[in-house]
Order: sequence, then C-alpha cells, then structure tokens
Amino acid sequence: MTELVFTECRIGIQSRSWLKTAATYSEPGPGVTRVLGSAEHRALLPVLADWYREAGADAVWLDDAGNLVGRWEGSLLDARTLLIGSHQDTVRQGGAYDGIMGVLLPLAVLSEINRSGRRPATAVELVAFCDEEGTRFASTLIGSSAIAGNFNRDLLAVTDSDGVTLADALRALGSNPDQIDRVARQPEQVSGYVEVHIEQGPILEAENLPVGVVTAITGIERHRLTITGKAGHAGTTPMHLRKDALVRAARAVLVVDELCHSTDDLVGVVGQLDVTPGAVNVIPAEVTMSIELRSPDSAIRRRARLDLMERLAGALDGSGCQWKVETTYEQNEVRCAESVQWALAQAVEDAGYPVRRLFSGAGHDGLAMAHLTNIGMLFMRCKDGLSHHPDESVTTEDLEASGQVIRRFIESWPG
Ligand SMILES: [Zn+2]
Repeated sequence: MTELVFTECRIGIQSRSWLKTAATYSEPGPGVTRVLGSAEHRALLPVLADWYREAGADAVWLDDAGNLVGRWEGSLLDARTLLIGSHQDTVRQGGAYDGIMGVLLPLAVLSEINRSGRRPATAVELVAFCDEEGTRFASTLIGSSAIAGNFNRDLLAVTDSDGVTLADALRALGSNPDQIDRVARQPEQVSGYVEVHIEQGPILEAENLPVGVVTAITGIERHRLTITGKAGHAGTTPMHLRKDALVRAARAVLVVDELCHSTDDLVGVVGQLDVTPGAVNVIPAEVTMSIELRSPDSAIRRRARLDLMERLAGALDGSGCQWKVETTYEQNEVRCAESVQWALAQAVEDAGYPVRRLFSGAGHDGLAMAHLTNIGMLFMRCKDGLSHHPDESVTTEDLEASGQVIRRFIESWPG
C-alpha cells in the first residue's frame, strides 16, 4: 500500500487554525471549559456560524435544542441528507479537541470541497451539538437526542448547580425549547450519521496509524457491591475471629481485575470504595464498591456478568461476611452500521492508509443518533491516548489525514 503524501495540508492547517481560536472560548483556568449555555458557548456560536458561511454553507441556523447546523446542498435534488457532527461542549478543564474537532475538521473538508466547485451528490448537514458531556446538567446527549427524536422533555426542567433550568439555558442561547420537538428529523430524510473524534485511547498511536474505523460504541453496566462484616476493636479481636469487610472487598477488586484480564473485548474497573466506619483502629464493618464493566458486545458482557457473580461467590462465600450486588445502570452497545463502516474503510484505503477497526470504549453522540439512522465513526490518533485533559493533542498531519478520509467519504456517499 502506498501512502499518499498531502503536501499542501490545507485541511489540516485550516482546521488547526479554527481549533486554536475555538479553544479560546473557555472559562479561565487550565485547558478548555465550555459548557452548554455558558457565556463562552454563546460567544462561540456567531463565530462558528461565520466559519460555516466562509466554508460555503447554503444555510446556517441555530435549532431549538441549541445545536448549530450548517447545510451544504448536494448535486442530487432529491438526495437524503448526510448528517456529520460532534459536540461543542467540554468537560471541566478538558482539551481542545474532544468534540469540537469533529465539527471543525469536517468544516475544513466542506470548505475544500466548496473551493473545488464540485458538489458531492449528497446534501450534508454539519451539526455542532449543544451538549454531549453533561457537564452542566445531569443529562448527556441533549442536542443529538433532540435531533434523533428521542429527547425526554422532562429534562427541560432539570436545574444546574445554580438552579437554572435547561429550558432557560437553551433560551439564553437563542433557542426556543417549547418547540424542541420540531428539531427531530424524519428517518426517511436522512441517509446516515458520521462523526470524527479523537480516539481518547492509545491503540492508534501504539500501532502508528493516523485513523481507525469504529465498529461499535461500547455497552456499559454498573453495579454496587455491598459487603457486610462486623466492626470490632482492632487491638483486642484475634485475627481468626474477625469479619473484616475490607479484606473481602480487596479480594473482590482482584476478582474484577482478573475477570477483565482474562476476557477479550471486556474492560472493567472498581472506581469507588466506601469503608464504614472508616477509622484507623476499627475493623471495617461494611464496604460498598462500584463495579463497572464495558464491552462492545452485549453477549460478552452478559457472560462476564455471570462469570463475575461466580467468581465473587468463590471469593466471598463462607467468609463470614454477607454480600449483595445491585445493578445501578445498564446501556447496550450501539453497533456502527456495516454500510457506514464499509464506506469509511474504503475512504481510509483510498487515502492510502491501512484499515484498522476498533471499538469505542467511551460514549458518543452516535448513541442517540442510532435511534434515527445508520451511524459510523472515524477515530483519529491523539497524543498518549490522552483526553478529558488540558494536554489533549493531535498533529496537523493527522488532521489532514482524517480530513482526506472524510473528504473521500463525503464525495462517495450516495445520498
Ligand atoms: Zn467527545
């Protein structure tokens, strides 16, 4: 396979310049903090709209869910619309690429296509979703679920830490949340959804690849394990008479880790541990801990759950401690459509790169968009696999490589 050399790097250079400017629309402090409806979000919108127009958009509008949308007509009059997008918001003290790169890179591609004077067959709408991270309100995927037609209107009354409702935050942007239902698209008018996003993991960098084609967005389940033993004086209770809940919990942590090491396409973590009473000289009476499992394949995840219960029973039964597991959260994986994966893989090959398929261990707007249409994602290599961190970084060459892939994808998409 010959690697094409893109000497001009116009897409890479243009997108980097926009990304640098967009990163300045942030609360003060390390990294980038830009949450839904904030002053920074409000200030970025007209700038973004100007960039859309500079890139030749035929129409630009803010929808009633706070999403900024640009539309580029295709050459086919009755073509369905290809939706491309990502989120404008960030976590607190996040990086300059998670989310907004998936808006500004395709924008640079659309600008190049516009300059060439050759319209692709398909109409394209580029969407900067108002919120994916859920940093301000206790809800994620607000913009994409509204477009996908599965937004829960009860969320409009949810308040942030200052008591401001989501509805008021959307009004402050210039949207009308009373009409949020009108944002929903009709499935027959849409031909697919594609998102380009930094990998947020180390695989592409380790394999020296600029891009990867996403197969699925991971499924997640979370459980709360409670282990109940007996408190006692840490000096006077002999070791063999103790019911130490924390010692059992330590074994349970190892069980989770060993299970995930021994199963392909499964990752898991114990991220929270509460010890009661939590005193230096008291035998721990009760421990609650979180257990999270993720897999792109629900069959693997469900088998792993059964395996986990057996292993926990092996580690905890007969220890003198009681234990119970409650499931607190479960979300199935979302598969990327074969048709979109295939078209992306073809575009990667046409741009001169090997095709690497990988699954996304993080959630994305595609989770919501899959309710509307076929979805696909292109991952881009990021430095040290780092994300949700001020030091997020990508190279101009990788922006160009991803741009070349997205350009080929758009130009070959049937509409
Ligand atoms: Zn993201």
